Amino acid sequence: MKHYGLIGYPLGHSFSQKFFTEKFAQENIDADYQLFPIEQIDLFPTLLAENPNLCGLNVTIPYKEKIIPFLDELDETAREIGAVNVIKLVLPVIAGSTRNPIGQEEQRGLRVKPAMTETQKPAMTELTLKGYNSDVIGFENSLKPLLQPHHKKALILGTGGAAKGVAYILRKLSIHYIIVSRTPKSGQISYADINADLLRDYTLIINTTPIGTFPKTDVCPDIPYKELTNKHLLYDLIYNPEKTLFLQRGEAQGATIKNGLEMLHGQALAAWDIWERG
Ligand code: NAP
Repeated sequence: MKHYGLIGYPLGHSFSQKFFTEKFAQENIDADYQLFPIEQIDLFPTLLAENPNLCGLNVTIPYKEKIIPFLDELDETAREIGAVNVIKLVLPVIAGSTRNPIGQEEQRGLRVKPAMTETQKPAMTELTLKGYNSDVIGFENSLKPLLQPHHKKALILGTGGAAKGVAYILRKLSIHYIIVSRTPKSGQISYADINADLLRDYTLIINTTPIGTFPKTDVCPDIPYKELTNKHLLYDLIYNPEKTLFLQRGEAQGATIKNGLEMLHGQALAAWDIWERG
C-alpha cells in the first residue's frame, strides 16, 4: 500500500483527504491519505522518520514557504514562485523495496540546503524530497478558458503565497498585472488607488485575499464595484462560499465570475500526476 498525506496547521476539514480517499476507493488504488497537523515545521523530520513509507505529501498553510529548506530539490516553477504545495518522496530502487517504483527517475531542478540535522538524516538514508507547485497548474487551467482578447491587464488583490503563484501564471500568459495591498510596497498600489480610469484597462481582477471566506461571508475587497462592467472577469481563489460577496457584486454589474473550486480540483489532480509520473 502507498501512503500519502497533508501537512499544515491547523488541519480541520480537509478537501485533499476527502478527494484522495474517494479517488483511491473509486479507482481501486491501494493507497491511503492521512492528515499530519504539525504545530511547527521543525517537527517535519520527525514526521518523516515516524512515517518511513510516505510517497507523497501535500503542503498547506502555513508551511508552503517554510517547507523549502527541508527539501533536497525544487522543480523550476516552485523555485521561481518560492512556494511548494506538493512533495514527492523518492527512494532509489533498492532490492526488495516496494516503496517507490519510480525511484530511478532523473532528478532535475535546484538543490536546496536540507534543514535536517545529521542525526535526523540517517533515518532517511538516500531519501530525496522534491518540491513542486501544483496550485499554479490548477489556476492556469481554470483561468485560460475564460480569457478574452481584451483581458490584457490584471489587478491581483493580496500579496501572500497565492498571489505569487497567480503573478507567475500571468507573466507566463503575458498579462500585465499590478499588485494591490493594504500596505503597498514599491511597485504596488493600495485599494484607494483603484478608480474608474484604472478599471477601464484592468479588466481581470483576481482576489487572492481570504476576505469573504466562510464563515465571514459578508465582507469583500474594497474596490469600486460600481465601475465594473461586462468586460470584467472576476476570479476569486476562495471556494467556500461558492459565490463570495466579491463575485456577487461583480456579477450584479454584468462581470464574468469564477470561484476557486476548479483550481482546487486541478491542483489535486496535478499533485497526483506528479506523484505518479513526476
Ligand atoms: P496569505 O498568505 O494569508 O495571503 C493573503 C494576502 O491577502 C495577505 O498577504 C494580505 O495582503 C491580504 N489580506 C489578508 N487578510 C486581509 C484582510 N483582512 N483584508 C485585506 N487583505 C487581506 O494567504 P494565501 O496562502 O496567499 O491564500 C490566499 C487565499 O487563497 C486563501 O483564501 C486561500 O484559501 C486561497 N487559496 C485557494 C486555492 C485554491 O485552490 N482555490 C489555492 C491556494 C490558496 P496585504 O497585507 O498585502 O494586503
